[in-house]
Amino acid sequence: MSLLQLEDVTAAYGHSEVLHGISLSVDDNAAVGILGANGAGKTTTLRAISGMVKVGGRITFDGRDITGVRPDRVASLGIAHVPEGRGTIGDLSVRDNLRVGAYLRKDRTGIAEDLELCLDLFPNLRQRIGSNASALSGGEQQMLAISRAIMAKPRLILLDEASLGLAPSTAQNVYRAIRRLREEQGVAMVVVEQNAMLAFSVVDSAIVLETGAVSLAGSRDELAGMDEVRRAYLGG
Ligand code: ATP
Repeated sequence: MSLLQLEDVTAAYGHSEVLHGISLSVDDNAAVGILGANGAGKTTTLRAISGMVKVGGRITFDGRDITGVRPDRVASLGIAHVPEGRGTIGDLSVRDNLRVGAYLRKDRTGIAEDLELCLDLFPNLRQRIGSNASALSGGEQQMLAISRAIMAKPRLILLDEASLGLAPSTAQNVYRAIRRLREEQGVAMVVVEQNAMLAFSVVDSAIVLETGAVSLAGSRDELAGMDEVRRAYLGG
């Protein structure tokens, strides 16, 4: 059984339907990519999973129907969303942002271990632990947003455009840590990316969205071998 399953999911903003029947499944410990051009519906797919938009179809997580379930409840079931634009709290320190990530947890030892894990994955944050999030660079804010998700000890992380606006070397660093998180901690992931090269460094399979529908789906190697994917997303 898949950890996360989307069956024929639709989503609308007001009366305007922008997802027209998306199906996707993510196994335990697996990472699945969502590729696609601007406006294709990648962010909305993550919002649908998190309960942030009105949805149709069916979404299950760990065998439980979560279609239309509220975002706080979805989070408490073990899904952490790292939104595009990051959503860190600017006037709180790095340390306090991380504490916020762990607000549903009571296991002090586990929380301390996960804080250490974040600082090990992102050494920049160790140096900036007392700084306000607003004083961090874009790359450090992205690292903080991912770390805040880790602090919730999720079974699944939804990652929205983690490379957006970052210098190529910073984006590589962020994705190296994401890869480690997956390999060492076994956290399942849905990775939304416009940069397919970075997505393919983490995921085992992916779907390509076009105007709110799945246009291609396959393993990473299958997709990376397709002419249309190479032309549109791999620069060749
Ligand atoms: P991008 O990479 O630009 O973020 P995306 O693939 O994530 O693109 P979405 O942000 O999911 O695409 O947008 C899908 C469609 O929904 C687009 O046509 C967009 O204009 C529309 N849309 C997104 N957010 C809203 C909103 N809050 N209200 C109304 N329409 C929206």
